[in-house]
Amino acid sequence: MDVDLVVAGAGGGLAGALRAAQLGMDVLVVEADEHHLRSNNTSMSTAMIPGAGSRYQRAAGVDDSPERFLTDIAAKTRGQADPRVATALATVSAQLVEWLADHVGMPIELAGDVDYPGHSARRMHTLPGRHGSVLLQGLADAVRTHDRIDLLAPARLVAVGIDRAGDRSAVVEYPDGRREEISARAVLLATNGFGADPDLVRSHLPEIADVDYHGSAQSRGDALRIGESLGAATGCLDAYQGHAAVSAAARTLVTWTTVMQGALVVDREGRRFGDETVGYSEYAALLAARPGGCGWIVLDERINELCRSFTDFRDVVDSGAVRTADTLGELAERTGMSASVLTAEVTTIAAVARGEALDKYGRTHVAAPLAPPYHAVEVVPALFHTQGGLLVDQHAQVLDTGGAPLGGLYASGGAAVGMSGHGAAGYLAGNGLLPALGLAHLAADHLAATA
Ligand SMILES: Cc1cc2nc3c(=O)[nH]c(=O)nc-3n(C[C@H](O)[C@H](O)[C@H](O)COP(=O)(O)OP(=O)(O)OC[C@H]3O[C@@H](n4cnc5c(N)ncnc54)[C@H](O)[C@@H]3O)c2cc1C
Repeated sequence: MDVDLVVAGAGGGLAGALRAAQLGMDVLVVEADEHHLRSNNTSMSTAMIPGAGSRYQRAAGVDDSPERFLTDIAAKTRGQADPRVATALATVSAQLVEWLADHVGMPIELAGDVDYPGHSARRMHTLPGRHGSVLLQGLADAVRTHDRIDLLAPARLVAVGIDRAGDRSAVVEYPDGRREEISARAVLLATNGFGADPDLVRSHLPEIADVDYHGSAQSRGDALRIGESLGAATGCLDAYQGHAAVSAAARTLVTWTTVMQGALVVDREGRRFGDETVGYSEYAALLAARPGGCGWIVLDERINELCRSFTDFRDVVDSGAVRTADTLGELAERTGMSASVLTAEVTTIAAVARGEALDKYGRTHVAAPLAPPYHAVEVVPALFHTQGGLLVDQHAQVLDTGGAPLGGLYASGGAAVGMSGHGAAGYLAGNGLLPALGLAHLAADHLAATA
């Protein structure tokens, strides 16, 4: 046997590599893209990781627990989340963020100033700058200096088999077409989902198939193909994270914190079309269905200031994508919206914020009325990543169609079934990184326990 564990995919999978090495195992990470530190989904993310009941929350006086988190997951997914995966991840979440600080040495902090749709407690943990590139770099630095972990890149996992001794074998392919077989006690599929495969997206996610894909080009569905070739079962392949706040000009994420702080999402005419606070994921398909398939986020100076701590938001501002005006009439002129429609929407939602009116779409969360000067950013909908994948148990073991574990095969992140149920609406902030890092971590724990 060459190593104990092969981790395919150097995104969230690195958490599994580090955990396995910490537990005394030898690990080989194989990564298809030598530029993964800038190109995979973990690096593109806003680094928001839920941790329910963490010491950071206790220090900030936030009352939270895995049970409370599970209640939120059940509500957002209408009870459709895989119960074993959701329970395992909610339970490990606080331990995970503390482990990132204590073992990986990351300056984890509670994002105590922001609310996210569907989370009843402030439970997002992040890093200064709030960007996934910092998170991934921290994981990669820890991997590079660990003498039990080797990284092979670029090298694509193309198949998993069983070697003569009954161990797993991972077949990797190099860019020149050469192949190599590596034997290991186990393989962790951490290769993300199938967002970059247009045919798979069209067949499983037709409602979002025509919008921009804003995720890793390497998410080609390799885990699905490899897992299915071994008899693995799949689940929730219709689940995805969409986003309705990608800047049309900068192609960078305008944080939904703008909305949770009181911003409106309107169409080209300046008209709202729903309760924005239900969630950014399901809002992608709603925005796609508006005339022209685009719209505007309308905010004010207070929100603009508050969001400056987000790297992505700063990038949007610095790109010149934000239009500013002292009056709504001027803002309408600068954006092509109808002044009367926009003014009516902003005036009505201000009355909702003051408790003087009910919103026609049922929005109750409006932090404060918008005040001049106003800003607007043109936004387009996007698909960020797919959420469904290989069925796994609470240890991240891949299951066959009869529900039994396929020995020595684990899956995490976008490769696995996830915790978002079906469709777009079950996506809660953090449902991407928690399964990515958390399932990888749980896989390593399980492999160590079965040594
Ligand atoms: C703009 C943006 C913001 C986001 N913000 C958040 C957030 O704040 N919180 C949150 O929870 N989620 C967020 N997400 C979602 C989150 O980024 C993903 O769900 C998560 O990073 C997925 O991790 P992963 O390890 O599965 O995939 P990745 O991080 O994409 O890693 C997979 C790796 O596998 C490699 N690979 C692919 N195929 C192979 C193969 N066959 N062999 C070897 N290597 C292979 C890829 O090159 C890649 O490096 C965001 C997504 C986007 C796009």
